[in-house]
Amino acid sequence: MSTSSAGSTWIIGETVPWSAAWSGESAFALGPSTDFPGMTEVSQIERPGVGEPLFAAVHVSRQRRGLAQGLCHVCGAQTRPGDRWMFPVASGGFVTLHDGAVGYGCNVPPMHRMCAFRAAAQCPHLGRLAERPFRSPREEGRLISRTDVVPGMEALAAGHPPGMEIVYSCYRLFSPAFARAVRTRRDAWDHEARARRET
Ligand SMILES: [Zn+2]
Repeated sequence: MSTSSAGSTWIIGETVPWSAAWSGESAFALGPSTDFPGMTEVSQIERPGVGEPLFAAVHVSRQRRGLAQGLCHVCGAQTRPGDRWMFPVASGGFVTLHDGAVGYGCNVPPMHRMCAFRAAAQCPHLGRLAERPFRSPREEGRLISRTDVVPGMEALAAGHPPGMEIVYSCYRLFSPAFARAVRTRRDAWDHEARARRET
């Protein structure tokens, strides 16, 4: 789908990631969660291409669906286990598990290799970081819900029944072994970034 505004053409999957929200998608509702049975979730109206893309805002329904079903963050199509990529310097974080071990949680849906390289070339944030795509592990990881209010949804949350636990977003939690690989990758990125600053 493409749309034009202010002289620029936005093409979902090309110049706008599939999971970005649009200004025409500002209606929300509460309902039973499909990905977390028994819980209540926020869903967002789906009108991609209507209005302006809001690059800083993730569409809450597409974000969860992408993570739950392995749909590509960039193009929205299905990814397969051997072709899932991520940017672990730019996104996600370390999570301490019950036994004290540390896993890595990624809150961005996976990307096809081609889509990840396109994002690296086109996304200003990734361009500043100069981060190369990193292959996701073969393990599926565990889908974990987040009931804390995500940035930008504070006003919406204020209207919800007090004390009610609501799923806003989710992330995929990967094993300590993959967390160590991410740590190594982040250290290497730090080293390269320092070397770039010194030259
Ligand atoms: Zn893709």
